[in-house]
Amino acid sequence: MDQSQRGQFSLRLVQKCPVCNHDYSSGKIQILDEEGNSFLAYLTCANCNSSILVRVLTLPQGLIGNAILTDLTADEVMTFSTERQIASDDVLVIHDFLSRQGDLMQNFKNYH
Ligand SMILES: [Zn+2]
Repeated sequence: MDQSQRGQFSLRLVQKCPVCNHDYSSGKIQILDEEGNSFLAYLTCANCNSSILVRVLTLPQGLIGNAILTDLTADEVMTFSTERQIASDDVLVIHDFLSRQGDLMQNFKNYH
């Protein structure tokens, strides 16, 4: 699969900008990462300039994708995705932080 074909797949999954509903066909698509049968695409709306990240998984049954709206640039996304792996210390820090917040699930419930 070459770059333009992958772009076509992304377009099929996310055809319109979630912000302004503009068609993505005139927008910009970058393939940021490819790993096995999945790839990460970055789409920029030509109309309102908002960007979404699309993770696409190619399966024999078809394509599965999810998209998130992001305010990161494509370069920033790549920087974060190549950052070091999460170390056990990081997990402990988060655990410590969460335990000070009380019951996390309770907080989620209260939030809604
Ligand atoms: Zn837009």
